[in-house]
Amino acid sequence: MQLPTRLFGKQQQIIDVHVHTFFEQPDAREIARGNGAEFTLEGLRKECMANNVQSVCSLYNNFDQPLDSKTIAEQKQSFQSIVGVGIIHPLKLKKDSLAKTEKAIADGTFKALKVYPGYYPVFSIDKRFHPFYKLAGKYNIPVYVHAGDTLSSEARLKYCRPLDVDEVAVDLPDTNFIITQMGNPWFIDAAEVTYKNPNVYLDTAGLFAGMVSFSKLYSSRIQYVIDYIEDPRKILYGSDWPMVRMKEYIEFIKSIVPKQMHQKVFYDNAKRLFKL
Ligand SMILES: [Zn+2]
Repeated sequence: MQLPTRLFGKQQQIIDVHVHTFFEQPDAREIARGNGAEFTLEGLRKECMANNVQSVCSLYNNFDQPLDSKTIAEQKQSFQSIVGVGIIHPLKLKKDSLAKTEKAIADGTFKALKVYPGYYPVFSIDKRFHPFYKLAGKYNIPVYVHAGDTLSSEARLKYCRPLDVDEVAVDLPDTNFIITQMGNPWFIDAAEVTYKNPNVYLDTAGLFAGMVSFSKLYSSRIQYVIDYIEDPRKILYGSDWPMVRMKEYIEFIKSIVPKQMHQKVFYDNAKRLFKL
């Protein structure tokens, strides 16, 4: 079901550009258990309802089935607030992967793409990604680039430095890129790449996955990024649910982002970028 607008009244409407809906993912299940999140579609719907979240961009990050548009479409049927994101796995591409991706974009199932450098040993600047980046440019949808800290200790950090995004953003000026989790811990690099390139954005997701005590550590860093970029249109609110609970994460980001920027960061920027 779609969430009725009238429920929200004058409260801040929110688009969360970064949630996960691969409900079988063991690490995510573990963290969700720890923080009390109900890691199901119904649990997601309830948290959205409770927190005025109107749309969620869903990263169905099942690497055994990358570009799974069928599952996203099914989830969207049950919960219309879901916005689909196609996951690209460069080591599992098939001959028809690009064509399938284009079909899912054209029919509205995917409104963004995501690459996960670090989770596989491939840099975001790898040429295998370029046809997908160009496709995103053609349809004017953004590409998320995983940057910084990884959930798995088996991932490799050298592949996911946000500075690499500068390279693809310059080479492909018609494609918009989103650096995830502000590049944590490379906040300075992420801020510079976002400030410098008109086609680069960043999201606020997952800065203290499962560890609320870390929030103090991040406040000054987030503040630095906001001040450095000097453009509230470049920052997108994302939580990384179920790694964090929506309520506490909204409050955390709200407490750092200046009030006059809330409408853009929590809603307008995503609405414009994802054409929602
Ligand atoms: Zn995430």
